[in-house]
Amino acid sequence: MIEQEIQQIKGQLKGVTLVVATKGRTVEEINKTISAGITIIGENYVKEAAEKHHHLAGKVAFHLLGHLQRNKVSTAVKIFDLIQTADSLPLAQKINEECKKINKNMPVLIEVNIAKEKNKTGCAPEEVEKLAANISRLTNLRLKGLMTMGPALADAEELRPYFKEMKIIFDKLQKEYNLSMLSMGMSESYRIALEEGATRVRIGKKIFA
Ligand SMILES: *Cc1c(COP(=O)(O)O)cnc(C)c1O
Repeated sequence: MIEQEIQQIKGQLKGVTLVVATKGRTVEEINKTISAGITIIGENYVKEAAEKHHHLAGKVAFHLLGHLQRNKVSTAVKIFDLIQTADSLPLAQKINEECKKINKNMPVLIEVNIAKEKNKTGCAPEEVEKLAANISRLTNLRLKGLMTMGPALADAEELRPYFKEMKIIFDKLQKEYNLSMLSMGMSESYRIALEEGATRVRIGKKIFA
């Protein structure tokens, strides 16, 4: 089941990277995705990820997809290979500090609150350029691109304008910072995200349902 879903999705990706969203999934389920050729999983919670990392370290790369709290950064930098949710300078600075302590360079994506939703994490679209400039000056961070969730809408097609806007911001910064990752699209919306230029999609439900 898991294997078939993954093959079916991969057939639609045309080289775009699939990150399997594994929050709430067991080590056994994750091992099935690895057997199906998956090389990157995305986790949302540091504590949960740490437990799984204990069993899976070296078998699959761990990317952080969930909001990162300041008091979890020191654990997070030890577990994760990439952080997709850098969304403020203070958080980026904290990640940089903790990475310095363990002599690690951390690839990061800036999470963008593209619909400017209240009570949602993510950098405001008009602040992305400034944050990118500031992150690029931090010695132990490597800015790789942008990520967005997009608003929860009844119809995935309504996400298209937000994905388009992300692509415009991405293209604007791409050359200057040599960005390669535009992370957008989930189970319900990845087809639209692909059409709008995503270079990686994050899919959970569709694979495990
Ligand atoms: C859970 C999650 C996904 C995957 O969503 P599905 O609807 O399960 O495909 C992608 N990105 C983030 C940040 C998530 O938390």
